Amino acid sequence: MIQLYIPLNFLGVLYREIKQSLADIDKMFTLLEREREVADASGAEALVLPEQGPPNVRFDDVSFAYDPARPILQGLSFEIPAGKTVAVVGPSGAGKSTLARLLYRFYDITGGSIRIAGQDIRQVTQASLRQAIGIVPQDTVLFNDTIAYNIGYGRTEDPGRPGERGASREEIEAAARAAHIHDFVSAQPLGYDTMVGERGLKLSGGEKQRVAIARTLLKNPPILIFDEATSALDSANERAIQAELQSVARGKTTLVIAHRLSTVVDAHEILVLEQGRIVERGPHAVLLEKNGAYARMWALQQSVSDAA
Ligand code: ADP
Ligand code: MG
Repeated sequence: MIQLYIPLNFLGVLYREIKQSLADIDKMFTLLEREREVADASGAEALVLPEQGPPNVRFDDVSFAYDPARPILQGLSFEIPAGKTVAVVGPSGAGKSTLARLLYRFYDITGGSIRIAGQDIRQVTQASLRQAIGIVPQDTVLFNDTIAYNIGYGRTEDPGRPGERGASREEIEAAARAAHIHDFVSAQPLGYDTMVGERGLKLSGGEKQRVAIARTLLKNPPILIFDEATSALDSANERAIQAELQSVARGKTTLVIAHRLSTVVDAHEILVLEQGRIVERGPHAVLLEKNGAYARMWALQQSVSDAA
């Protein structure tokens, strides 16, 4: 029995490793494929941002399906006013992360329109669109490169804006401090030159998310998307990261996908998404009074956190 158990257990570890790297490869292919499918319209021009302050974002009657046979989002309309936060909550599989991917234009929508400051995102260059948006995704994929590179990637040389240089080591460090990852990085023998990713130092979910936050701070875009990952974090870490996200979002036009409702209390509007449709919407207090889906989710989370 024991002789059998050890190799099987070892195989289990190996299997997990292989599965993980396959998942990453899969993700890369998906990204590459999208890059091919989503193309700049002929004559596309750069997104024009307001001279002062961040732009507004509008989804108008947006529909989307990864596979034509299976609609994911159906007739979604909402606006994030300039500088405000709109939160999306709802069960797993509702289409929350899909919303984020559509705003970043990883995929083109199948109906309706998404506009930033009045401009359809299909009519502007992808480079200018992505320059304007910072994403802290649900699971951050790090490049097989140094920590410095992974943070500085938030502001690399931009071919669309010649003369704009990449981030300096000082700027990278400042962003890392603000994202509370500097002490961790400094504690590594090679500091910011430590290799991370699949072939380097493995970071925890929380550490990876902080790298993504530092990256976003450095990029300093007018539009933010947070797809909060909480499964990987303990609650102390989670609260710390949420506080960081909130301070990053101040004065930016922000779409927050929230798994933990405590983060959406101050949102301009909360959308409750179920099976690709908005089933309830409004600010926190109004939704609580409605005593519907949101109120039930809220009550459930309160009782869970009371018990913890
Ligand atoms: P949420 O973030 O709310 O959990 P997602 O937006 O990730 O939900 O997914 C919504 C639905 O779309 C799910 O049913 C999911 O299985 C499906 N889906 C997500 N990504 C893909 C993809 N790349 N190809 C096909 N279906 C997908
Ligand atoms: Mg998701």
